[in-house]
Parts: sequence; C-alpha cells; structure tokens
Amino acid sequence: GKVLLTGGTGFIASHVLDSLLEHGFETVVTVRSEDKGKRLVDAVDPKAKHLVRFAIVGDIAQDGAFDEVMKSEPFDYVVHTASPYQLHWDDPVRDCLDPAIKGTTGILKSTKAYNPSVKRVVITSSSAAVLNPPNHRPVYDETSWCEITWEQAMDPKHTYRASKKFAEKAAWDFVSTQSPNFTLSVINNTYTFGPVQKSLAHPDQINTSNHRIRDLVLGMQRAAVASTLPPFTFVDVRDVALAHVRAMMLPEAGGERFYLVSGYYSNPRLAEIIRANFPELQKKLPPPGAEDDFPEGHWAFDTSKSRRVLGLEYIGLEKSVVDTVKSILEREDWG
Ligand code: NDP
Repeated sequence: GKVLLTGGTGFIASHVLDSLLEHGFETVVTVRSEDKGKRLVDAVDPKAKHLVRFAIVGDIAQDGAFDEVMKSEPFDYVVHTASPYQLHWDDPVRDCLDPAIKGTTGILKSTKAYNPSVKRVVITSSSAAVLNPPNHRPVYDETSWCEITWEQAMDPKHTYRASKKFAEKAAWDFVSTQSPNFTLSVINNTYTFGPVQKSLAHPDQINTSNHRIRDLVLGMQRAAVASTLPPFTFVDVRDVALAHVRAMMLPEAGGERFYLVSGYYSNPRLAEIIRANFPELQKKLPPPGAEDDFPEGHWAFDTSKSRRVLGLEYIGLEKSVVDTVKSILEREDWG
C-alpha cells in the first residue's frame, strides 16, 4: 500500500514514518522545503530508504495546497499530522487557527477531488479536542468534546487547543456532508513524550511537548523544578505512531476517534526518573524532594477503546523519559 504522510519533519510524524516503514508501506512525506526533505530522507534507516520519497507542500493554510501532490499519483491512505504546535502566537488566526483548520479541510478536499483510491484518512487531533476545562469531567473518553468558542480562541493562551477542536470538528463535518471516497479515523493523543527526531539540527528545534524533559537535561531547572501544566497526562510517541498505523489499516477503526493516554506525570516525577537513571546529569537537575503538583480532584481517563480496537499496551513513564533523554544525550553534535 502507498501512504501520503503530511508534516513529515514533525516529532510525531517521524515516528509514524518509522512505523509505516516497519509495516512495509511505501510512503510519500510532505515537507515545506527541499532542504528539510533531504535531511528527513537522510535520517531514514538505509534498509527502508527505498520506500520513502518527499514532496514539497508549502503553507497548508493556502487553498489547494495539497492539490499538486494529490494529482501526482494514487494513494491508498493519507495520514495528516501537520499542524502548528507552539505556546506563543503573534497572530492566532494566521499562525495557528488557519493552518490547523484549513490544512485539515484542504487535505480532505484535495483527496476527494483528485485521489479516488484513498480508502482511509487518519488525522492527528489531540486530547485538547477532548478535555473541557474549566468544566472537567470526572472521567474522560472519546465521547467528550472541548467546548471552547471562537471568541475564546483569540486569547493566545487558548488558541492551540481551540485549533485542534475546530480542525477535528471540521473533519467530521466534511465526511458527514461530502460523502467522500474515504472513511476517517482520528487520534486524540495527550501530551506526548519520546525520542526526538534524528533529522533535527539543533535542540531549539525539539517539539513543544518534549521541552520539559529537554529543559531538565540542559540544566534549565537547576534552581527549582517548574510547575507542571495541564494536561498532567502523557503518552509515548511510539504508541501514538502505532495507533496511527493501526487506525489506518483496521476497517473497524473507520468513523472512530481514539483517546490515547498512558498515565499521569508531573515535572517532579520527570526529574526523579532522570536522577535515578542518569548519574552524569545530577548537577543539572533541580533539588530532590519536590512534591507532585497535580490539581486536587484531578480527572481520570478511560482508554479501553484504544486498547480494545487498536491493541495498544502503552509504554510507561520511566521508559518514555529514559529513551527521550538518551535521544538527546546521543546527539554529541549538540554539545
Ligand atoms: P512538531 O512541531 O514537531 O510538528 C509539526 C509539523 O507540522 C511539522 O512538520 C511542521 O512543519 C508542520 N507545520 C506546522 N505548521 C505548518 C504550516 N503552516 N504549513 C505546513 N506545515 C506546517 O509537533 P508534533 O509532532 O508534536 O505535532 C504533530 C501533530 O500532533 C500536530 O497536529 C499536533 O497538534 C499534534 N499533537 C501533538 C501533541 C504533542 O504533545 N506533541 C499532542 C497531541 C496532538 P515544519 O517542520 O516545516 O515547521
């Protein structure tokens, strides 16, 4: 089978690509520049390199951004991960909401218009489209939706989670109103840790959700551990990647969303795991003994659907953190 994978340079996409290649899928990844495409293909395991090509797709917020690649050859599956994920926005609409929402509707439109062989589209949404602060449910699962409004999305603190909610809603609306040639599956992964991509040129390029681990490793929290921010739950990127590939392959995953959580974490726990496993990092870590800082009455999560349908078993916090730290320390060129 042949797959189109968007946002190939990204953290999650790099692991989705590894998983696709392990399953033997020929894959075309979209990237924003020739240079990024070359770095990405260079970082692929030599044994699988013959299965990978890149195509250049510029800003996904533009109308018809995916038309050319969709006209170029038939695909069996599409995996759409590209979407901005940062903590700061100069312009919430231009920098975040437009690429998230128009990128999503854009790929669905181009697929329907030019690629009739596509059977399944998988979209990376987020737990941000599931959780509904400040009115938290006691237990979250796939039946829950974030209820944030467009007006609230103009506050840059809330823009990112709104972008994920509106993009996912737009995707479900598209399939219910446009009767496309494909079915849709959506992955709602929570805060994701795991080995950083080999194609990164500098630790500044590490994706947002790995910043906490990176900052501990680089000694940026030596004085005191930073307070933990929501969602207080994590999942390992290798489980997220496997979920995308299984959601793509399994007929029964069509029309479904999957909420992915391994367990709870806090910044003090991350620091203690690093302390216990990396003696060479002792001097960079915050003082021991900080308490977990979960909010009182923290919500629970029900991940039975992802276990039952996708067969996920979930990597635990210690392995996830240790492997993330190793992937950073391994990069001798980063000093
Ligand atoms: P990265 O920042 O590593 O990846 C983002 C990807 O999207 C990059 O390939 C980036 O390209 C691309 N992209 C961003 N904006 C545009 C744009 N305007 N036009 C074209 N491409 C664009 O983040 P992650 O891997 O963490 O995120 C990937 C997906 O997973 C996103 O949809 C994110 O919302 C979702 N997600 C992430 C979670 C996490 O904790 N990490 C949790 C839940 C969901 P370039 O490299 O060229 O900038």
